[in-house]
Amino acid sequence: MNDCIFCKIVSGEIPSHKVYEDNWSLAFLDIAPSSYGHTLVIPKDHFENIYTLPDETLARLALTAKKVALAVKNATLCDGVNLIMNNEKNAGQIIFHAHIHIIPRKENDGLKLFPHGSSANEELIILSEKIKEQIKD
Ligand code: 5GP
Ligand code: ZN
Repeated sequence: MNDCIFCKIVSGEIPSHKVYEDNWSLAFLDIAPSSYGHTLVIPKDHFENIYTLPDETLARLALTAKKVALAVKNATLCDGVNLIMNNEKNAGQIIFHAHIHIIPRKENDGLKLFPHGSSANEELIILSEKIKEQIKD
């Protein structure tokens, strides 16, 4: 992917502050952090989002995210960590090379997460059936 910023970070064409690397994945500091220690974990190969990530790559990514999340927690002395993955534009994805955000949290840090709504039990029954029908192996 010639125009992909994250591919250029993998190749070294664009500089980054790397914190971890293995054969499949790379972790580096976010250039515009939501909090102190905000880190991104990406596959080295280009895949657009979670839908197209091969299973093994996704599994490796998850293992890297776990390893790096703990390191970020210990390094920043945060009290919690959010792991977030934006998939597609309407979910906030700006860079279309799959990535997991590691966002350190502290008490009263002012970061807002998703608001909660409400739902009727009937609605949840119908919805859970709809989703179950769409589960593919
Ligand atoms: P998205 O909204 O696609 O889930 O998140 C993309 C993230 O990449 C953003 O948090 C943004 O700050 C970060 N980012 C964008 N360009 C660069 C860059 O050139 N270097 C680094 N380190 N992070 C970047
Ligand atoms: Zn890419």
